[in-house]
Amino acid sequence: MPAILFYFSNGNCNTFISSTFELCNYKNYLAMKIFGIGRNYAAHIEELHNERPEEPVIFTKPETALLTRNRPFFYPGFSNDIHFEVEIVLKIDKVGKNIEEKFAHTYYNEIGIGIDFTARDLQTKAKAKGLPWTIAKGFNDSAPISEFVPKENFDLQNLDFSLQQNGKVKQAGNTSLMLFSFDYIIAYLSRFFLLKKGDLIFTGTPKGVGSVAIGDTLSCFIESKKMLQVIIK
Ligand code: MG
Repeated sequence: MPAILFYFSNGNCNTFISSTFELCNYKNYLAMKIFGIGRNYAAHIEELHNERPEEPVIFTKPETALLTRNRPFFYPGFSNDIHFEVEIVLKIDKVGKNIEEKFAHTYYNEIGIGIDFTARDLQTKAKAKGLPWTIAKGFNDSAPISEFVPKENFDLQNLDFSLQQNGKVKQAGNTSLMLFSFDYIIAYLSRFFLLKKGDLIFTGTPKGVGSVAIGDTLSCFIESKKMLQVIIK
């Protein structure tokens, strides 16, 4: 505990090891927000027998959901049905609220790819009772992300992305199939939430979601470039 108290008193990352080191990593993400967009691809809405939304379906994950640098994912004991959902992720790099859709593109410069791991069994239970999805979506390590790359390298309205499970393509999406565009999503979110530099937005998954098993290797691609790998342990 003294180390923890010290950390909050001056934030020096070099003085202590172990628990303090973990906290300093955590500090890098302190106060960031992670948004997820549900039901943004029509074919995925159909595969889960959901209704097509009139406005984006929004959920959040805490920053402790982040899994970076291709670290492995350890299958949690509370679920028997963890699903992968590959998604393009936007990184906000400017503070804003009530952003007009026509200016939304100026609020992010980089994109990445991520997996919105979902405890589908817990989510299905919550949905049946009309309860929040928080634990089904926000558990530890439920948001693996790639490095972020400049968006100007891509045609964002016609961007291919995909996920392979053990070398087989399971999800192959294109952003032209989104119900709500990146710019619309940013404008919409900013009506309710002050967007801040470093906030991340998972923009929805295409069809083909499925269960993972211990031993699986998941690989995620933007266009033909492999950006992220997650081994399930
Ligand atoms: Mg998702």
